[in-house]
Amino acid sequence: MRIKSEHRLRYLVLSDTHANLEALEPCLELAQGKYDQAVCLGDLVGYGPDPNTVIARVRGLTQVIIRGNHDKACAGITDAHDFNHWARLATMWTRDVLTPENFAFLRELPAGPVMLETFGMVHGALVDEDEYILGPVEALPALRNLPTQVIFFGHTHVQGGFMLPPAGKYQSVRCSSGPHGRTAVLTLQDAGRYLINPGSVGQPRDGDPRAAFAIFDEKQREVEYYRIPYDIARTQEKMRKAELPEPLIRRLQVGR
Ligand code: ZN
Repeated sequence: MRIKSEHRLRYLVLSDTHANLEALEPCLELAQGKYDQAVCLGDLVGYGPDPNTVIARVRGLTQVIIRGNHDKACAGITDAHDFNHWARLATMWTRDVLTPENFAFLRELPAGPVMLETFGMVHGALVDEDEYILGPVEALPALRNLPTQVIFFGHTHVQGGFMLPPAGKYQSVRCSSGPHGRTAVLTLQDAGRYLINPGSVGQPRDGDPRAAFAIFDEKQREVEYYRIPYDIARTQEKMRKAELPEPLIRRLQVGR
């Protein structure tokens, strides 16, 4: 799929919201007025307590959404056999509470890659939507074969990414754990190649429990990384009420 747009836009890039409404809301508040178009890299649901509300919220923002491995499992496209015990339990819980309409919506989500005018989006990797890009072993071959200057990916829940600058060596992109709001800006160089992870809205795993997202400025050729705290205790309370697995509840407060 290729989507055309005539103007250079600012894109809100969301990924891995994982049915965490308390995390999604402050991201949208912080991003308000800062972007023209939103996109979503998948894993809308799974783990968290609010799958239906989060789907409605993301659908209200954009139609440019690709599926993640948890969306597939929760929609019964895959059977979650490769998930750990806790993730599988959360998948079954999600299947039970999804409305028929949202179940059907998840089933219809397209697989990545989806290419827009100046960038592409995948959930995991270009070659395989379920592959994790964790470091140079996966990132370097991908960067050498990127079909476009920048690809946004999610799946690892680690904000940052990887790059191959025009005259330099492969580097990973590290984000500061600075004060809330815009924590880092990456300026893209013309002949550089970039794999960018906006981080996870609803279940960060990079040691920073704050919700994460990115904004891509097509005209300025800049990626802005954001972090914002949210009411983790409230999400945890909802998860306990729903009897979701305790390890999934606890991991939110450490961001691992
Ligand atoms: Zn995920």
